[in-house]
Amino acid sequence: MTALPGRHDNRKNIMEETYLTKIIVLSKEVYREADARVSAYSLDRGRMNLVVRGALKPASKLSGHLEPLNEAEVMVIRGRRFDYVGGARNFLAGRFIRTSLEKTRRAWTALYLLDRAVAREEPDREIYFLLKDFLSRLEKGAVAEADFWLNAFIWKLSARLGFTPELEVCLQCGRNVRAGKVFFRPAAGGLVCAACHTPADLACPTPLAAWLKEIIFRPGQEINYALPPDGFFPALQKINRAFIKHHLAIDFF
Ligand SMILES: [Zn+2]
Repeated sequence: MTALPGRHDNRKNIMEETYLTKIIVLSKEVYREADARVSAYSLDRGRMNLVVRGALKPASKLSGHLEPLNEAEVMVIRGRRFDYVGGARNFLAGRFIRTSLEKTRRAWTALYLLDRAVAREEPDREIYFLLKDFLSRLEKGAVAEADFWLNAFIWKLSARLGFTPELEVCLQCGRNVRAGKVFFRPAAGGLVCAACHTPADLACPTPLAAWLKEIIFRPGQEINYALPPDGFFPALQKINRAFIKHHLAIDFF
């Protein structure tokens, strides 16, 4: 005689098929007729895709919690082909970001970058908190500083993903690059000295190199609050763009 599963076994099955996690929604698209598919960065499982059933129906409350920029706690139901959202409660809703076109643009760049550059189901809590810190600074802070936070976010994210630039010695001759004219070589991912530089390298004044070091190597998920030295922002943007294009294969700004 086969034993019927008892109450205890049922409970165990339910536990295995659902779980709670916090997510930040990166993107959302129509999926099948009335559903949506959400790409999100989760605290416990890294980037993941989730299907929201009935999301396109006007009465769907669940769907409203799961807009890009939102942070939510979700109950995920494991499916055979997809994971589904069974319930959601949101905290950070990006209300003030959405009222500013400038802030929205920076936020979407960060979300897009994570969506594209990060592999699925590779959990990294530091990345989760880094994104959260970036979004809340954008939410509360001045529009004029939005670009700076985005740049700082990108450098810290790149470092978490394993692309840490060499900022101490010239990549070609090995000499210390703390003084004199210094250049950044995006393809090699670091600095070169004046003697070794080629026309393709980008100027990287030493105060800017020092600032980058401070941003990238300071431990923790918080974006360093110090603004880059005056007048160096255009150089920073150029380096940033070239570095991301080369190492993450994404072109933006
Ligand atoms: Zn050199």
